[in-house]
Amino acid sequence: MATAASFEENLAAAGRHLARFAAEPTLHLIGGEPTASTSGDTFASASPIDGMQLGEVAAGDSADIAAAADAARASFEEWSGTPGEQRKRVLHAVADAIVARAGEIAVVESVDTGQAIRFMSSAALRGAENFRFFADRAPAASDGLALPSAHHLNYTSRRPIGPVGVITPWNTPFMLSTWKIAPALAAGCTVVHKPAEWSPLTACLLAEIALDAGLPPGVLNVVHGMGETAGRALTEHPDIAAIAFVGESATGSAIQAQSAATLKRLHFELGGKNPVIVFDDADLDRALDAVVFMIYSLNGERCTSSSRLLVQRSIYDDFTEQIAAKLRNISVGHPLDPGTVIGPLIHPRHCDKVRSYIELASAEGARVVEGTGWAEAPPEGNFVAPVLFTGATNDMRIAREEIFGPALTAIAFEGEADAAAIANDTDYGLAAYVWTGDVGRAHRVADAVDVGMVWVNSQNVRHLPTPFGGTKRSGIGRDGGDWSFDFYMETKNVAVAYGGHAIPKLGG
Ligand code: NAD
Repeated sequence: MATAASFEENLAAAGRHLARFAAEPTLHLIGGEPTASTSGDTFASASPIDGMQLGEVAAGDSADIAAAADAARASFEEWSGTPGEQRKRVLHAVADAIVARAGEIAVVESVDTGQAIRFMSSAALRGAENFRFFADRAPAASDGLALPSAHHLNYTSRRPIGPVGVITPWNTPFMLSTWKIAPALAAGCTVVHKPAEWSPLTACLLAEIALDAGLPPGVLNVVHGMGETAGRALTEHPDIAAIAFVGESATGSAIQAQSAATLKRLHFELGGKNPVIVFDDADLDRALDAVVFMIYSLNGERCTSSSRLLVQRSIYDDFTEQIAAKLRNISVGHPLDPGTVIGPLIHPRHCDKVRSYIELASAEGARVVEGTGWAEAPPEGNFVAPVLFTGATNDMRIAREEIFGPALTAIAFEGEADAAAIANDTDYGLAAYVWTGDVGRAHRVADAVDVGMVWVNSQNVRHLPTPFGGTKRSGIGRDGGDWSFDFYMETKNVAVAYGGHAIPKLGG
């Protein structure tokens, strides 16, 4: 992989790879052509490191979405009719091209989002894995079942649903986009992608890479812009059959309302306030490492972060003191420095939001343990030190609201029933993590928590064939394995009579 090893090399690589974004506006990609907005409007993309402008980006509206939907509609017949084996070859070529440019993707993503390069390097490669996984499944995507009855042979098959819209958030945008776009393309759908306005740059790289790798023009289109304009128009467009959305729960509600008139199929991956439950019989050294990793990696800007730590009271003080000790060694700094764990948060507004919870925690009566910040942080950068809130209770806002930063809320519990009750006392239901040495308890608690995904004695380790998604305000539907194809495809049943069954006679 081409990612430079040292800070200086990464800085030099950033200079090379970001020059194009500074030199001219980043455009939409519609029908395979870089395209300016019909209105001519652009918006500025700023670096979270120091507020420096990275470049101008085309700001799309309903006219640009209409053009992209036309392109997706025009290319649908050919792409959906392309044999699965051929789609597989093209998508593997996209994966190869992502690997070849992984260093560039990682550096651009790191500067555009503020995420540390140590995590972005693997996120770029995960994007390639997503393409390979769904490429391999493309040839069998339309396969169905044989369901014979006494007088009929029923068989099912699947067809791609049509052009689809993919709307993605600003956190790890490249990897997340591939997670939605790769299965859509493997299924035979064409796509209009609306990336997040706070981190738009790598979406342009993905579309460019896919086109260069042989994806026909118009199969993957990108329209940049604000959620309220470009995003809204995509959710309202009559030719778009489905919307795959990743983002905040409140935005999911808005999209549900916006797309009601055109009866779109919707798939939502939304927010979380995920509990990590640590019992006193667990392997506490491993639990400690996993807890720290799952909240302080990726700046805590991660939907599956274990942001609510539930610790058995007998070990609460000791366990939280060990977290506090680790906090002091977690380095905050420039995201291109390979030693950095926490980089700047995405945007000044988000930074203010995360900081506001630090003040709120004290006001609510929790104790705030702050890690070490970055002495050299540029004042215009969105840097915060990691924090731990101890002595918290589950009714506090720091325990109920998604902070989406490096902030961990630690709550004590008494026993198994108490732990499950606290874990479930939330609006969200994305993931839970359970740490215990008792196998029976592990199964009981995994069964009791109302979430889409549970990891027992583990941090979040993804296995692509498994279902990904949440309950309650964390989402609707599942991704991964065949679940993705269920969303991007329509199932048809054909019933063929053997010939002997009774047909009611009416009219003589
Ligand atoms: P957001 O909801 O503000 O924005 C997400 C996308 O939706 C952006 O592209 C935005 O432009 C667009 N958008 C906004 N308003 C819209 C509208 N009215 N119509 C159509 N599109 C609209 O989310 P964010 O702040 O970018 O991302 C952070 C959130 O994403 C967090 O809540 C996080 O938990 C969630 N997330 C969830 C998962 C998951 O898998 N469950 C993964 C990553 C992030």
